[in-house]
Amino acid sequence: MTQQQTEEIVLRGISGSQGICIGKAYLVDREGVDVVERYYIDIDNIEKEINRFKQAVNKARKELTGIIEDIPEDLRQHAYILETHLLLHKDKMLYGKTIELIENERINAEWALKRASATAKSVFRNISDPYLQARAADIEHVTDRILRCLMGTDDVNIQGISKRVILVANNLSPAETSQIKLDRVMGFITDRGGKTSHTSIIARTLEIPAVLGLERATALINNEDLIIVDGNEGIVIVNPAEETLLRYEELSRRYEAHKKEVIRRGDLPATSADGEFFRVMGNIELPEEVVAVKDHGGDGIGLFRTEFLYLSRDDFPEEQELFDQYREVVELMSPLPVTIRSLDINGDKEVSSMPTPQEANPALGLRAIRFCLKNPEIFKTQLRAIMRAASHGYIRLLLPMISSVQEVTETRRLMDEAAEELNNRGEQYKRDIELGIMIEIPSAAVIADILADFADFFSIGTNDLVQYTLAIDRGNREVAHLYDPMHPAVIRLIRHVVDAGRHKGIKTYMCGEMAADSINLPILLGLGIEELSMAPQSIPEIKNMIRKVNVSDAKKLMDTLLQQSSAADMQRIITDAFGELLYEDVYAE
Ligand code: PEP
Ligand code: MG
Repeated sequence: MTQQQTEEIVLRGISGSQGICIGKAYLVDREGVDVVERYYIDIDNIEKEINRFKQAVNKARKELTGIIEDIPEDLRQHAYILETHLLLHKDKMLYGKTIELIENERINAEWALKRASATAKSVFRNISDPYLQARAADIEHVTDRILRCLMGTDDVNIQGISKRVILVANNLSPAETSQIKLDRVMGFITDRGGKTSHTSIIARTLEIPAVLGLERATALINNEDLIIVDGNEGIVIVNPAEETLLRYEELSRRYEAHKKEVIRRGDLPATSADGEFFRVMGNIELPEEVVAVKDHGGDGIGLFRTEFLYLSRDDFPEEQELFDQYREVVELMSPLPVTIRSLDINGDKEVSSMPTPQEANPALGLRAIRFCLKNPEIFKTQLRAIMRAASHGYIRLLLPMISSVQEVTETRRLMDEAAEELNNRGEQYKRDIELGIMIEIPSAAVIADILADFADFFSIGTNDLVQYTLAIDRGNREVAHLYDPMHPAVIRLIRHVVDAGRHKGIKTYMCGEMAADSINLPILLGLGIEELSMAPQSIPEIKNMIRKVNVSDAKKLMDTLLQQSSAADMQRIITDAFGELLYEDVYAE
């Protein structure tokens, strides 16, 4: 092939997984399912059309079962994602609705499936929690697979790749990502997708660089183009100039050496340069993820999101099922703490036959503690399971979306009732568990001094605190550039919470994404946050950064910092003071 004279192009996207790689682009072709044929069906052929749909679903499920069986050992913990996809194939929102549309509207299966899928996706997209929002992508992947089976087009054959390449795709499904062979694929980039998509979660587990949401990568990049993927910065460089290439080759070598060293030291305690110890814990959604927390040196679970067990089903889980899960996690982590957050579900999510009204602003609606207090039996079932599991290890209970004292006192009353019920049944349980409040609504932050009298600890959920303080929908791309945890209003609120807590003798922790970004650490430690919790893969890097920071230096900087008028000014001050500690072994000149 002749070398073409081409311009260097820099594309900016979302960092899906950290690391740097350099290699030839391999465009993944997945044409065929974006546009489908639409036609009406004769009344006599409706039964046949429904059967054609059912056969396609069966074929799709068979294909996926094969992929699950072949899933490599190191990705086993993510098999649940694909198992959830298997369930989604028969979900009533997708499967039932498609059949209903074929029957009632006499339209072809592809068209009906596209419509059912669009409605199901919008249900998820209207949920304010980004984790649940990202589940819309799962519906899309399942839809695509069934459509390919209906239309007879092939799946992306990632296993068939014979050279070492960087994948460039419009979108990659978790099933496709899980087939990636590390000796062939160095990294991948996509036009679509975001940080909380399962595709990027898998990329982080595989520990290969990934940049997502590039929008025009497949349009601008050709097969065999040389590309650089910098997953640390969310940048892709196409056809790099000689000096860019040399610089990134060096950066890539240094990053690999850095990562090895950080992971090697993952089990060491996070004790700051001036001798303060901090617990660095893991956020999990499923019991399987405990292994990842332990492997990455986590000092416990700082946030166990309990929503997953309530999704993709028509009823609410029984106490025993919840207890079994919680007990497993607690026993695996023992003697380290497991912080179980009570159900943070949005009211418009169809979790049972219980009808919930459509809400114009779900983020401000019947969510989390509000939903639980309105449905005390559902809440008490979870509280009983938590109290029973607490007799098997160290559990803390964390309440989401608290905005007033009454919500906490009401919860305590329900805990008493739940304990009484367990007592009457003669169950083994522990009533006296630490009760924490998530500080993620500005009203809670403002009255932290009052709330402190009713709680044993605070845990700041910055994902929501930033959203509600700055009035920025955390899942809306259009305003994503304004979403900044370093906004002076957020920093001042955090300071107020920590100070109020300290004054009343309770500790403040943080479990929002802000805690997982090393550059934020000096501020968080300077403000007095005492424990941090994050995705397991981020733990070693954060521990590494804590070991380099001098907390008393950070504290000295706080007065100056709190006088700044913008996030950019704060960032500059922090970067000037501590920036060189960050990847100092990688990006240093
Ligand atoms: C948060 O809001 O910061 C948080 C940790 O909870 P979630 O992301 O589950 O809303
Ligand atoms: Mg939250």
